[in-house]
Amino acid sequence: AAKDRGGQNAIFYDELHSDQLHEIATIEGQLRKALDREELILNYQPIVDSTGRVSAAEALIRWIHPVHGFISPAKFIPIAEETGLIIKIGEWVLRTACIQHKQWIDSKRLPPFDLSVNVSLRQFLNQDFVEMVDRILAETRFDPERLVLEITEGYVNKNVEYGNHVLNQLKNRGIRIAIDDFGTGYSSLSRLKTLPIHVLKIDRSFIRYVQNDSANASIVEAVVHIGKSMNLKVMSEGVETIEELQFLKSVNCHQYQGYLISPPLPAAEFEARFQEFSLP
Ligand code: C2E
Ligand code: CA
Ligand code: CA
Ligand code: CA
Repeated sequence: AAKDRGGQNAIFYDELHSDQLHEIATIEGQLRKALDREELILNYQPIVDSTGRVSAAEALIRWIHPVHGFISPAKFIPIAEETGLIIKIGEWVLRTACIQHKQWIDSKRLPPFDLSVNVSLRQFLNQDFVEMVDRILAETRFDPERLVLEITEGYVNKNVEYGNHVLNQLKNRGIRIAIDDFGTGYSSLSRLKTLPIHVLKIDRSFIRYVQNDSANASIVEAVVHIGKSMNLKVMSEGVETIEELQFLKSVNCHQYQGYLISPPLPAAEFEARFQEFSLP
């Protein structure tokens, strides 16, 4: 199947067999139609701070195919990136999430919290990206200071100048940036220091069994220290057990996300269960 390297979701076609290429072509064709047919939906997963308050929600895309049922974004997002479809899909994600979040907050059905939206590398490096973000913010009258964009470390190695330019434009609008899957890429710490970012999101592979796995424990502790010294918030994703949470609390991680608190939920369920989200 498609390979995921360094959190960049890159597909290497030369490593694929013809049946896999056929599958990709089929998925691509169906994905093109999925947007119009309203087969794509967003789920929302709460992110809580150390007091247990919901500080943000991450929007995560889902594809409910009429025949094949649920198709994981880990499968179709890399194909969307490779084919360029991610540009259209990414715009739809941002618009849909902003509209939903605004409804929740403006109607006072939910108290204020930040909205976190994933941006893939291809989208981020697309020359119309900032213009697209501006357009959606204006169209939905969304407060940029409530928006967090999650990007992976990938760009730090290529297109550094251009990437920094984009990040600064976003920062000037009050938008915050989280580095997603932190620790799985190859960004150098000296470069990290110079980036206009706000959050380090530790990849869930480092959270797993962190209380017993000494390698993971040192990585997590190191990231928390780096975050503190660079004035960044440190968030843990994929927190599944109370033991993992206890360790993360003991090293003063700032924010937590994972099945222990709640899985990603469809919007109506997220709203209905909002009061239950907290730290055990
Ligand atoms: P990610 O951004 O690193 O998102 C975290 C993934 O971990 C999500 O998988 C989430 O459902 C899952 N997760 C959350 N808590 C736990 C936990 O406690 N345990 C475990 N085992 N998993 C947990 P999901 O939703 O399948 O998304 C996979 C990836 O697809 C995301 O990884 C992200 O890279 C990409 N993706 C999802 N939605 C979007 C989107 O709207 N746009 C873009 N560009 N990429 C997206
Ligand atoms: Ca993410
Ligand atoms: Ca991750
Ligand atoms: Ca990711």
